[in-house]
Amino acid sequence: MANILEKLRNIGVIAHIDAGKTTVSERILYYAGKTYKMGEVHDGTAVMDYLEEEQKRGITITSAATKLYWNGFEINLIDTPGHIDFTVEVERSLRVLDGAVLVLDASEGVQAQSETVWRQGLKYNLPFLFFINKMDKVGADFEMTVESIRNKLLANPVLVELPIGAENSFSGIIDLIKMRAVFYDAENLGVTFKETEIPKELQKQVEKYRHQMFEHAAEHDEEMMNLYVHNEKIGEEIIDRALRRGTLSGKLQPVFIGSALKYIGVQKLLDGVTKYLPSPLDKPPIIVHKLTDKNKEITVKCDKNGHLVALVFKIISDAHGDLNFLRIYQGTLKGSSRVMVARGTGFQPVETRPGWSCHKENITRIFEMHASERKIVDSAVAGDIVAVVGPRETLTGDTICDTRNPVCLPSISFPETVISMSIEPLTSADKGKLLEGLHDLRREDPTFEYKYDAETGQTIIAGMGELHLEVLQHKLIKEMGIGVRIGTPKVAYKEAITKKAKAEGKFIKQTGGHGQYGHVVLTVEPLFGEDGHWSRDIEFQNKVISGAVPKEYIPGVEAGSKNALTCGVLAGYPILGVKIILMDGSYHSVDSSELAFEQAAAIAVEKAIKEAGPVLLEPIMRLQVVVPEANFGAIQGNLLAKRGIITNCRAHGNMQIIDAKVPLAEMFGYSSEIRGMTAGRGTFTMEPLSYERVPEQIAGKIII
Ligand code: GDP
Repeated sequence: MANILEKLRNIGVIAHIDAGKTTVSERILYYAGKTYKMGEVHDGTAVMDYLEEEQKRGITITSAATKLYWNGFEINLIDTPGHIDFTVEVERSLRVLDGAVLVLDASEGVQAQSETVWRQGLKYNLPFLFFINKMDKVGADFEMTVESIRNKLLANPVLVELPIGAENSFSGIIDLIKMRAVFYDAENLGVTFKETEIPKELQKQVEKYRHQMFEHAAEHDEEMMNLYVHNEKIGEEIIDRALRRGTLSGKLQPVFIGSALKYIGVQKLLDGVTKYLPSPLDKPPIIVHKLTDKNKEITVKCDKNGHLVALVFKIISDAHGDLNFLRIYQGTLKGSSRVMVARGTGFQPVETRPGWSCHKENITRIFEMHASERKIVDSAVAGDIVAVVGPRETLTGDTICDTRNPVCLPSISFPETVISMSIEPLTSADKGKLLEGLHDLRREDPTFEYKYDAETGQTIIAGMGELHLEVLQHKLIKEMGIGVRIGTPKVAYKEAITKKAKAEGKFIKQTGGHGQYGHVVLTVEPLFGEDGHWSRDIEFQNKVISGAVPKEYIPGVEAGSKNALTCGVLAGYPILGVKIILMDGSYHSVDSSELAFEQAAAIAVEKAIKEAGPVLLEPIMRLQVVVPEANFGAIQGNLLAKRGIITNCRAHGNMQIIDAKVPLAEMFGYSSEIRGMTAGRGTFTMEPLSYERVPEQIAGKIII
């Protein structure tokens, strides 16, 4: 249990794939004394990557939480994935973190996914440290990397260290605060180190960067500013305090330097985590909604004496019962207790969620998780991250709270699925297990969806990209032992409307006895997000006056309207970005029911949508391709043929980096295509960007 909250850090290490996140995490665990044998990514023993799949691919897919101790501080390290197909894993980890370390490759600078996670972090006001890794690598250039942080992330990097040498000659770092040179002993994997005077030839550079650091830090501390302008000596504690304030306010980001592979600089980074990143007490209170009244907001503070409020941010199915990873925001969670599981907003924003629900569950055990072992604890308090067993029906994003005070945290927002494929069991024994397996996958991963298509008799799975579905398929087969065959991937199209329309819907049945009567008049109009694209949301508004539709039937109208939007009028794809306004209607004192209004609303919405200029939308991906100079022309031509729009090109060494927007429909099998065109040297990353209108001649082939 976290005894002193000021000394608790909930952090994540985040990076573009291959920048060294796993190696840095491994080193952190090793130096903190958690693993006696250092894991290496290339020999597949990394402790954090405990899933077989991750080891095989050499990438980290699922977040694992682990607790470690450093200099009297307690650190919960949340592992985050590097591959963009798993953006949501990053997103949900960011949600429960208090601060993050962004690892960059010193020879690459800021890469596509560093930009993505930075943007995601900004959304949660997350303080960051940077770690410029791989200083030993050919092409390592810390100044270029710092410049790219400034230019591409528009961040304010402040170097607190400088490298001694670079590439092959990288041998240590200079601590600009202590003003000492530090050399790590490679014989014992960097556990011990020597401190010396700063080498003479570096004095000038050191003065320049120390001066820059002072300028940035002093802005956040009056005492430091005073000492600085009067040219007086400034103590270490004052510099640290100023840097901490700057970091917590998001106005600056301290930059550390090293080479995880060569055991240089990771301990200093850990010191930085404890010195500059926030404790749970530094975070502002959060607003939750009372479950019984979603308009009532309650402020939740990091206080162990308050009512319990915790978020399920990760579920891992396990033979001994599902492990639910929780971040506790308020109160104390006790083992062998009964709690309320509240589901307020599901996977959509609060306003669009039709039903709120809650149920009670038992917490049987609470664990502190270490990378390879778990320790049972009696209780856990606000600010901490733990795993529990007991709950059977939780979903990622649920709130765990006091049975008498049910509240809901804002849910984690998950992107729309962009790709789907059919899946079928190989044998009848597999058939029985498949649904259960899919259900488990969905509990663990809310960006994965499955549904039974009654028309074709097929089960359809949907996710964030080809790799995402491939990994899930592998889990079904290898981990759950279910034989499955999958179809070819299909694009998850959507539909939308382009103009406003009004329609009337009547559901009236007179069948002798009790009849049915529902009658509504409503309008539909397109709803756009801040980015100018169709919003992912559906909004419903009631403008009926004088009780033409009584209050008790409004939920029926809302449910019927939203239901009608799940199946579009062009090709049956879900419709997004619509605002529905209920204008008028009528009722019958005996025959009206919620169900009748639900039907009437569905009829009206379908009619209105047909009049509202429906169009087909397709997922557009943000793509970054890195290819040898010589292949640039061919790749560019190929992207244009794929309806791609190239948004930026730049040279990096003898490689070209191309940023583009491309429809997902054109991108199936791109990894083998790019390998073929570049003799295996080209790489790319891709993430969903937006939904845009399908050009008419192509839409014509999809709408048949
Ligand atoms: P991740 O994808 O961000 O988790 O990156 P990994 O930790 O898996 O590292 C990717 C590759 O880079 C592996 O082959 C590592 O051995 C290598 N690597 C990691 N850190 C360093 C470093 O400091 N220097 C060099 N030269 N290679 C490194």
